[in-house]
Amino acid sequence: MTDTLCLHAREVLLPDGWGKQVRIVIEDGSITSIVPQSLPQPGDERHAVLLPGLPNLHSHAFQRGMAGFAETRGPGADSFWTWREAMYRFVGRIGPDDLTAVAALAYVEMLESGFTRVGEFHYLHHDRDGQPFGDPAEMSLAIMAAAEASGIALTHLPVFYAHAGFGGLAPHEGQRRFIHGLDDFARLLEGVRAAAAYLPDSIVGIAPHSLRAVTADELSALSDLAGEAPIHIHIAEQVREVEDCLQWSGARPVEWLFEHAAVDRNWCLVHATHMTEAETMILATSGAVAGLCPITEANLGDGIFPASSFLAAGGRYGIGSDSNVRIDATEELRLLEYGQRLSLRQRNVLAAGVGASTGEALWRGALKGGGQALGDHEAGIAIGRPADLVSLDTEHPSLWERRNAQLIDGLIFAAGQPAVDCVWRRGRKVVSGGRHIARDRIAQIYRTALAKMLI
Ligand code: ZN
Repeated sequence: MTDTLCLHAREVLLPDGWGKQVRIVIEDGSITSIVPQSLPQPGDERHAVLLPGLPNLHSHAFQRGMAGFAETRGPGADSFWTWREAMYRFVGRIGPDDLTAVAALAYVEMLESGFTRVGEFHYLHHDRDGQPFGDPAEMSLAIMAAAEASGIALTHLPVFYAHAGFGGLAPHEGQRRFIHGLDDFARLLEGVRAAAAYLPDSIVGIAPHSLRAVTADELSALSDLAGEAPIHIHIAEQVREVEDCLQWSGARPVEWLFEHAAVDRNWCLVHATHMTEAETMILATSGAVAGLCPITEANLGDGIFPASSFLAAGGRYGIGSDSNVRIDATEELRLLEYGQRLSLRQRNVLAAGVGASTGEALWRGALKGGGQALGDHEAGIAIGRPADLVSLDTEHPSLWERRNAQLIDGLIFAAGQPAVDCVWRRGRKVVSGGRHIARDRIAQIYRTALAKMLI
């Protein structure tokens, strides 16, 4: 028997513009009909505004458990590298069930903020002592269990990590849970692909961790393993990383990557913060996506992505919650624009042109680029697509008397997450009144796991 749901909304953000008085029919989780200018019919669930759910293209879910634990000043200048030490200490304590507990809460919070798909950049593979689990995909299965418990769509990105620094340096003790050789990694990938087949809408990509962690030969082997699947890599996040890369190779990270890999639309370069004008142009015209994580980049003191020249050259971007120190889609988008405003001393930098709304450009940009990066190329409200939808609470004062794009501007720049009302994933309403339907249970399991891990 077909499971049918009919929604009616006053305004809907469709791929080609704003639909008015739209009736959407959803059968078994997929959109089968979109009819603008229609009257609601008896039994329709009525909403004021519907937006497409956003992809969150870069997450390390386990780091949700240490949010706020690395905000104490150390003896010297604190940096990404001191944060990483705190992260490595936390990593040592997480077992498979703990990972499911922490990731499930992170995914609940993502859904509550309007993200309906997550790209999980997953490098915590082995047991606490560094030995592989009996099933090498054990920790990936823990991530899939969290995705299933929360309902979020998963693009799983198992990470290949083999070295501690440029030029194939041997990994150190704090990295023992991340490390693979190429053969072991291929076996892991096989297991992950088989398991993901049981999770609706899941996609499996591949993630060379960074140019610090892979050699040129390994990178080329990984590209072959990926085929047409998404390939994600951390790159040019930190000035020291750029300096180390220059010293090792004579080239900057983005420059080096383009010289050694066929970077195309299957690739996502995460951060790409520190680029010359020439690197910015190469990335923008390659078809690859820049994976921007404004909250984490601010938290870690990374720097500001050159978005203005990147977009002017036709570049594509998406947003990611990365360290999950705070999970909020509207705040990621707001901070992305505000970083540009502060550095350029201009306003409405990321709007698509004169008279265009910045909020709508941000939402559409993150949808298109994020979908592409996660292998979900047609993300949006369209026939044949899973019904991944977000409704807004137009009773929020920041959304009163607003129409069309003004609603998204009001959401991103004024109301923020409190104006997110309901979220559907594959036609199932998983968030209602701003709360995930399983929040209380999942939060309680998280609390128990966290207390145990912090002993
Ligand atoms: Zn990351």
